Amino acid sequence: MNKINKDKRKQINDMVSIVKLTSLMFTAIIFFQYIFNDNEFLNNLIYQQIMVMALGVVMLLLLGIYLVWSFSLNDQINKNKYRKIIFVENLVFIGIFFVAVFLSGAYKSEFKYIFLFIITSSTIQLGLKNGITVAVISSVLILGMDILCVQNTNVNKYFQTDLILSGIFILTAWPLGFYVKIEGEHIDKLEELVNKDGLTGVFNHRYFQDALKEKVALSEKYKEPVSMIFVDIDYFKHYNDLYGHQKGDEVLRTIGKILRENLRENDVAARYGGEEFAIILPNTKETEAVIIADKIRKIIEDTKFYGEENQPNGVLTASMGISVYPDKAKNDVTLIKSADDALYRAKFFKKNRVETYTSILDEINADIEDKDVELIASIKTLIIVINAKDRYTYGHSERVVLYSRLLAEKLKLSEKDKKKLIYGAYMHDIGKINISQDILIKKMPLTDKEWEILKCHPQDGIEIIKPVKSLQDIIPIILHHHERYDGTGYPNKLRGEEIPYLARVLSVVDSFDAMTSNRPYNVRKNYQEAIEELKKYSGSQFDPEIADKFIEVIKENKDKLDNLI
Ligand code: GH3
Ligand code: MG
Ligand code: MG
Repeated sequence: MNKINKDKRKQINDMVSIVKLTSLMFTAIIFFQYIFNDNEFLNNLIYQQIMVMALGVVMLLLLGIYLVWSFSLNDQINKNKYRKIIFVENLVFIGIFFVAVFLSGAYKSEFKYIFLFIITSSTIQLGLKNGITVAVISSVLILGMDILCVQNTNVNKYFQTDLILSGIFILTAWPLGFYVKIEGEHIDKLEELVNKDGLTGVFNHRYFQDALKEKVALSEKYKEPVSMIFVDIDYFKHYNDLYGHQKGDEVLRTIGKILRENLRENDVAARYGGEEFAIILPNTKETEAVIIADKIRKIIEDTKFYGEENQPNGVLTASMGISVYPDKAKNDVTLIKSADDALYRAKFFKKNRVETYTSILDEINADIEDKDVELIASIKTLIIVINAKDRYTYGHSERVVLYSRLLAEKLKLSEKDKKKLIYGAYMHDIGKINISQDILIKKMPLTDKEWEILKCHPQDGIEIIKPVKSLQDIIPIILHHHERYDGTGYPNKLRGEEIPYLARVLSVVDSFDAMTSNRPYNVRKNYQEAIEELKKYSGSQFDPEIADKFIEVIKENKDKLDNLI
């Protein structure tokens, strides 16, 4: 809509510029008449010709400058600045017309109607109030000339005709301005309908996308940060199931109201999806965004919602994820993605909380040599591509990293090993980039040939990271994360302690996530069933000690994991 508005303003501006330009040409004729009528010096033909040429060139030059200026006016500036510039331009036009009328006979001038040009164009451009103002100024000028220049005459016939002319001025500005005003209000109403979400009163998804692009572009221009908050209501499906969608909609309406009332003027709150809201905070650092998000989180927590006592935590809450451009995202798309990632972490850590985005990639970047940074960035791209190819494992790497962090604490790994494990966890499936989507999302059991292809992914994965010198240490983890403790795994059929320790750790975590997330070939298990499965295969598939420790981790973090499984 913003663009449509700008286009409209540009078209009107161009049309009015042509009217103004034409009126300037008329004025030029008046000036010419004045110069050639009364100037004795110009009786000489040669002087006359030189004068005409010189004046002609100057006029054309001035008109040309005006033309370029007025047609380019609309491009960069905002509405208020535009109005100010046009207002000053109108005053200049009134001045020019006044001089023309004055020189062509002042109160006797036959060209007083020329003011009509500026009255109509200013009304169209700036609306009723400005149009009437210009009409009144023009009337005062022509009537003033009548009064001041013809003081001693009893009857001033010019005054009477000029009164009628003033009436025409005002009666032109008034209905035209009224029309412009009504049309403007009509457009505002339509804009509201088009841009706002009917249920919650915040902006809709489409407006949000446009606004985000605009704010990111501005932020780049003025070198200011833009923060984004993603909001998702906790256990909302549960609420809807208990009380029905209508009551659910009431919650959405109240949250929309909370957002509208508690954000700053330039912030943009929008309904991103069903029960998700997104907020753009222009010129806001991450630390400020955290304060704002936590304030809103607290207000939602403290607001009394119908029947909230039956929510799992006894109160209706929302979780929030924050990211910031350009520090944590390099464009509008990654800003949304990273805020969404942060939201995912907030959900993982018990909900009803605010989390900021932290990228595993950034952690890795801090540890590797400068020359490898680009390679790591392309590895991240590969992981995103794999996620996109395989919707069943979406978020799998991220979840495996979260579990690995918890298990690393439990196993009291050294800082160095902890890092190795986390990086390995993040990249362990990177070799799947070579596997076709048909195999990745196949519902039927895989054929022998397809299994052979799938089994190549650890080897393919290490080929990808081999060139990165600082990632050499994680090669064994990736290569051996599908080995089994009893020696029947792949690729090398290693057995027991032959399998590198961290690969054994990753194998437990990776399998746990595979069991508990939706897969094409098996039904997702809850954590209790997954624990049974870990126990069942402890000693055959898994290192028993590690499996035991991980079961402890799961039990200790039961409520966090509940949200994921
Ligand atoms: P979580 O705490 O992990 O966010 O769990 P959740 O139950 O809130 O799950 P999710 O975020 O996936 O919520 C999706 C639910 O939101 C599904 C649907 O019941 C509800 N929902 C989505 N759009 C609307 C809507 O327009 N009106 C109502 N009343 N409910 C909606
Ligand atoms: Mg949701
Ligand atoms: Mg939710």
